[in-house]
Amino acid sequence: MAKKQFKAESKRLLEMMINSIYTNKEIFLRELISNASDALDKRWYLALTDDTQKVDKDDLKIRLTRNEHDRTLVIEDTGIGMTDKEMENNLGTIARSGSAEFRQQLEEGAENIDIIGQFGVGFYSAFMVSSKIEVVSRKAGTDEAFCWTSTGQDGYTITPCEKDTVGTKITLWLKEDTEDEKYSEYLEEYTLKNLVKKYSDYVRYPIIMEVSKSIPDPSDENNDIITQEDETLNSMVPLWKKQKSEITDEEYNEFYKSKFNDWQDPQKVIHYSVEGNLSYTALLFIPAKAPYDFYNADYKSGLQLYSKGVFIMDKAKDLVPECFRFVTGLIDSDDLNLNISREILQQDRQVKALASSVEKRIQRALEDMLKNDREAYEKLFDNFGLNIKYDIYRSFGANKEKLQDLLLYRSSKDGSYVTLKEYTERMPEDQKNIYFASGTSVEDIEKLPALEKVRDKGYEILYFLDAVDEFVISMMNDYNEKPFRSVSKGDLDLDSEEEKKEREEKAEENKDMLTMMKEAIGSRVSDVRISSRLKDDPVVLVSDEGMSIEMEKVLSQNPDNRGMMKAVKILEINPDHPVFETLKKVYETDQEKLKEYAGVLYDQACLIEGLPIDDPVEYARKITDLMVQASK
Ligand code: ADP
Repeated sequence: MAKKQFKAESKRLLEMMINSIYTNKEIFLRELISNASDALDKRWYLALTDDTQKVDKDDLKIRLTRNEHDRTLVIEDTGIGMTDKEMENNLGTIARSGSAEFRQQLEEGAENIDIIGQFGVGFYSAFMVSSKIEVVSRKAGTDEAFCWTSTGQDGYTITPCEKDTVGTKITLWLKEDTEDEKYSEYLEEYTLKNLVKKYSDYVRYPIIMEVSKSIPDPSDENNDIITQEDETLNSMVPLWKKQKSEITDEEYNEFYKSKFNDWQDPQKVIHYSVEGNLSYTALLFIPAKAPYDFYNADYKSGLQLYSKGVFIMDKAKDLVPECFRFVTGLIDSDDLNLNISREILQQDRQVKALASSVEKRIQRALEDMLKNDREAYEKLFDNFGLNIKYDIYRSFGANKEKLQDLLLYRSSKDGSYVTLKEYTERMPEDQKNIYFASGTSVEDIEKLPALEKVRDKGYEILYFLDAVDEFVISMMNDYNEKPFRSVSKGDLDLDSEEEKKEREEKAEENKDMLTMMKEAIGSRVSDVRISSRLKDDPVVLVSDEGMSIEMEKVLSQNPDNRGMMKAVKILEINPDHPVFETLKKVYETDQEKLKEYAGVLYDQACLIEGLPIDDPVEYARKITDLMVQASK
């Protein structure tokens, strides 16, 4: 039988497993039992929905057999089984983890410990402890069986074989013990019992193993005889069916990690039951860190769905709204039809009611966290706040009321997070707007010339650090009737009547000069005007109502949009800056020079805004000329 080769990335992963120095090798058992449990779920579901595939529930089980003599550990299930094709597809390639990012990390030679932790490597983890693995499987509804064998990197074989019952039997030949690693541990009754208790206690099918029992010897009362007896090692009560008060944090954490492929404890557990028209139990988790592919288009969110304890489907998207799609976990309802399909799920009235109830609970949990455990909420927001923001934008503001109080922003006050409620509550009485400034870092924003006047007024400024922020408030318009206003857009609405009048007079006096400057810069700006927002800086580029400069920058990152989406820009000049006097002077004496200066100031304003300038060589030449002239 010719050996087949593993796909390249699987080979790399295997290599890592085989040479792993990961200290937590014992998780291999959890991974294999969890695969077996999934396979049993599938078989049971099939039995309930297909009359030709009936099965006795009592026959669904997992058996561990240890064989110290030939150093093998066998994990056998009566689950759905695999065909030869499925073996090829599921065991020859990286199944769950076959994402682009995972491959890339492998190629870049990521630290193996990280990878094992992050991606929870499933079946392959068995190679951490085994020198050879054999998988014999027979798929439900077929009478053929196949045997998959591999000793690791040099490939695998799949051959037809005999198997009397449906299901999968995995045999691990444990590696030889070394100085540091005692693989024979995994042949000990005590170790296996403990591992099952620790990681797989709530698997809903019995995990059975022969264990030694001592019973009194009937022929000799001073003696015990040791016999072997089957024992179910796990409690089998699904964790979510237990009383909250009976569950420890550690139990929640272990359950989450083993069931939802995370290596870190969850940040938040939401566990509740609802009785009534629609009864259900929810056990929901918010991960401590965003999954590595959370913001990728192909990330699959959703909850596991059970009906009366029977697993129906994974990643049921319709059970949790987009804005909270970072929540994982499961729902078990007594009122749902077993035959419910993904398509029906979308339209089903009961499912809609269920989803809406789940949404309210999550919302309440988040609000509660924000109120009572600020630090934890801020961490959550660092991980998933972006998703909440996207949702306000995506829903065209329809979800504004629901989500606006969950938003956090850094601000000019002290750099810490502030909610919109807190911001508006501490606004001075005369402040009419919510001011914000956009940039890629706090340091960059704090240097923005446009900030000066607002800050001088004693008004707090929200820092918009995410590209999506301005788009979000363009959908929100206001918060509690307080409009959002960019420090670098349109009229700031800051001046007193007197100041306004003074500015208008200045504008009138210098009208011709400003017009000439505007003409010199051309269509790149819609106006050159006297600024009301500058204190120490000479010029600033602002945008008119509509698209902001920040939005233009974000949109032009997509090459398709380049040049198409442009903010209407206005060059503002500080009338109190000495450069203004210089401009007035050259306007009287040398208008060509005024035009040249207008160009230089425009370029400067672009640079400050982080926008590219049209002709850097020309700009540099002009600055050098000015230096030479100044020293003459
Ligand atoms: P994952 O379980 O995350 O998909 P694994 O590498 O652990 O990744 O398993 C790959 C696939 O192999 C599973 O998705 C499943 O289809 C199949 N598989 C593994 N173990 C079994 C089993 N005991 N019975 C049936 N199918 C199995």
